[in-house]
Formats: sequence, C-alpha cells, structure tokens
Amino acid sequence: MGVLALQGDVREHLRALERVGARARLVRRPAELAACDGLVLPGGESTTMVHLARRFAMLEPLREAVRDGLPTFGTCAGMVLLADRLLDGTAGQETVGGLDVTVRRNAFGRQVDSFEGEVDVPVLGGSGFAAVFIRAPWVEDAGADVEVLGRVEAGGASRIVAVRQGAVLATSFHPEVAPRGRTGGEGPDDRLHRLFVDELVTTDVKGNR
Ligand code: GLN
Repeated sequence: MGVLALQGDVREHLRALERVGARARLVRRPAELAACDGLVLPGGESTTMVHLARRFAMLEPLREAVRDGLPTFGTCAGMVLLADRLLDGTAGQETVGGLDVTVRRNAFGRQVDSFEGEVDVPVLGGSGFAAVFIRAPWVEDAGADVEVLGRVEAGGASRIVAVRQGAVLATSFHPEVAPRGRTGGEGPDDRLHRLFVDELVTTDVKGNR
C-alpha cells in the first residue's frame, strides 16, 4: 500500500493501514507508485499537493494510475484531488481526477472549520462513523456510477461525505484521525481503511473485481 507523501497527514494513514494488516510505504516518485497495489491520498492542502505533484513529475503518473484502476482512497484534500470537477477551488486548480463528482472545497464554512460528527455509513454495518472534519469538502453532485456511502446533516441539508466508484473511495472527513475522546480505550475506528484494503485492494489484486 502506498501513501502519497508530498504533504499532509501521511503518518496517520501509514499507521491506520498497518493496523488493518497492510504493508504501507511512502510514495513520492513514479517508480514507488508503480510498485503499489493500492494508494492513499491523505488529507492536507490540495493546492499544495497538486503543486508538489507537478514538481515531482507525479501528476500525470497519478492520473494514469487512477484511470487504469489502481485502488485509491482519498481523504479530505485527497477527495478534492480525486474529483473530476471542483467548486470553490483556487483559480485554475488542477486535480488528479478519476471520481465522477463535483466537490466543493472548504464547503462547511468558516464557523465550522473543524468539527466532529456522526456519519451514517450503512456499508460498514454497526454504528455510525465518528468522523473528524477539518476544513472539509463535500460532494455537491455525483455521477450515475458513484455510490454514495455516507452523509451528514449540515445547514439543514444532507451532504454527501463518503463515496465509492469502482476501486476509488473518498471521504470528506479524516478516518485516519481518531476523534477527541476516542484515542483512549476505544481506539481508532479503522473500518474504512479495512474496507479499502479488504474489499477494494484485495479484490483488485486477485483480478476478480
Ligand atoms: N481544505 C483543504 C483543501 O481543500 C482540505 C483540508 C483537509 O484535508 N483537512 O485542500
């Protein structure tokens, strides 16, 4: 498993992947990307990540990898990177793309730059996902092939915050970061990393997706 390590909360993803039994490596170069069975695009700052991806000659290889079906999990800024279309992006902001969605950056507004909320993700079974949102995007519009996995109530409307399209998974929130109060006895909730590794990646590696 590779974690794109140009910027963002790389370590948290490495740890989460290891907790669910995957071997995880940093990815900064095309050769490292080519060696991965799955890729995580972490949270952070999407404009900076795109800028660095260009500088490291990684933007095209990333686009090709996702287009060719590399299982990819984007969280927060990673979701922004995976979006085919952006609203409220920095002028001319490019993305990696691959997910047929329109994503609104920093969608939850200034008053609630960061918050924790319970997201209902039926595909995970059990309880809702206690999710950490940090200057988070949401999915404004999703194409017909996009499965909506989770929503949260915000400003009187139900917002899409978790999606899947084929081998691409994306969340507005940070499943790699445990909410406050959850770092103790209960431990982090790794169900989304487990879903990614056990279903999207493993199925793909077996070639029977
Ligand atoms: N607002 C950031 C962006 O658009 C994402 C924030 C995050 O990843 N926590 O890139």
